[in-house]
Amino acid sequence: MRIATLPSAHPLHKRIRHCVRYDVKRHRSPLHNLAKIYHIDPNDMETIDPVRQLPTYQRPFTIHIADTREASLEDDRNNEAQLRIYTDGSGYKGHAGAAAILIKDGEPQSKLQYYLGPLSHNTTFEAEAVGVSLGLQLLMEAALPRATTLALDNQGVIQSTAITWISGHSGADGNELVDKAAKGAAQGTTSEWRRLPKYIRELGGRLPASVSALKQQHNAALKHRWGERWQKSPRYAKYEAFKEGHPFHNFRQATKDLTRRQYSLIVQLRTGHAPLNKHLHRLTVVDSPKCQHCPDDEETLRHFLYQCSNYRHARADMTAKLGRDAYAAVTTARYNTSILRRDLFGITFW
Ligand SMILES: [Zn+2]
Repeated sequence: MRIATLPSAHPLHKRIRHCVRYDVKRHRSPLHNLAKIYHIDPNDMETIDPVRQLPTYQRPFTIHIADTREASLEDDRNNEAQLRIYTDGSGYKGHAGAAAILIKDGEPQSKLQYYLGPLSHNTTFEAEAVGVSLGLQLLMEAALPRATTLALDNQGVIQSTAITWISGHSGADGNELVDKAAKGAAQGTTSEWRRLPKYIRELGGRLPASVSALKQQHNAALKHRWGERWQKSPRYAKYEAFKEGHPFHNFRQATKDLTRRQYSLIVQLRTGHAPLNKHLHRLTVVDSPKCQHCPDDEETLRHFLYQCSNYRHARADMTAKLGRDAYAAVTTARYNTSILRRDLFGITFW
C-alpha cells in the first residue's frame, strides 16, 4: 500500500500502476502479487510526499493549544476576535463528513459542509483536516485577514496545520453548531459545489482513499475471514468447550506473563491432558487409572483438585486464597483460565 502512495517522481510510481493494470499469467513480479492480494488501486489512493516541508519552513499562523479542556473553553469565551471560525470533522454512522462555521460579531454568518465518503475510504482524522481547509475557505470568502481565530477539536490536526484547540462536544456555542454540521455532512450533505476549496473541486468531489482507512478495512476483512475459517476448522469443536471465543484474547491476556512451564500446566489442565493417572492410563503409560492414595477413585482432575485427601492441606491453601473461586476453577470439565492462573502456581500442588 505504501508503494501505491508514492509521488510520480518515484521510480516505483509507474511500476505499481503498470502491475495493477496488466495482470500477467507468466513471470509475475512480487508487485503483481501484492497488487492482486491487496486489491490496490493506486489511482484512487492518496499520494504521500516523502518530504513534508523544508527545514526552514515557518508556519504562517500562530498555534495555541490549551493545556486542559477547561482552559480551552475559557479561551473560547475570552476570544474577542471579530471573526471566529469553528471547524470539525466527524466519523458518524460509518461515514465521514467535515464542516466549518464562520461566526461574525457573535452571530453565525456562513457555513460549509463536505461529505467525504464511508469510513472505509477516509478516516475521521482526514475529515478534521478537510474541516480546517473548509474553515480557511470561509475565511477567504469573508476576505478579512484581521484578527481571526480558527477553533477545532482535534489536537493532532492542529499540530500539523492550524490554530486553536477547543475541547470537543462541550457546549461552546460555535462548536456545538459545527459538530451538528459535520454530522450532517457525514450523512451526505455537501455545500454548493463552487464554494468548496479548489483542491476538492479539482479532485472531482471525491478525495482519494486514505491508506490508514484502507489498512483498517483490510485488517478487519482478514480478521473476519480468519474467524470464518476457524469455525469450519476441525479444531473448532474441541475449543468450543472452553468458551473463550476466537481469537482467544482473554486467554492470551491471562497467560501473557506466565513462564513456559506455567503456561503448559494451564494448557494441560484445560485440555484434560494433565499427567494424572486417568489420562496417563488412556495413553497406556501407567497400568491403572486409579489414584495411588485412594484405591477406590480414579485420579481425574476433579479428584486431584477437589477430592483426594492426600492433597487436603494444599487444597486448604487454595481455598484460603481463592475463596469460592477455587470451586469455579473446574466446572463440568471446563476450566476457567483466569482463576486457575491466579493462584494455583503458588500452591504446593506444583
Ligand atoms: Zn486420591
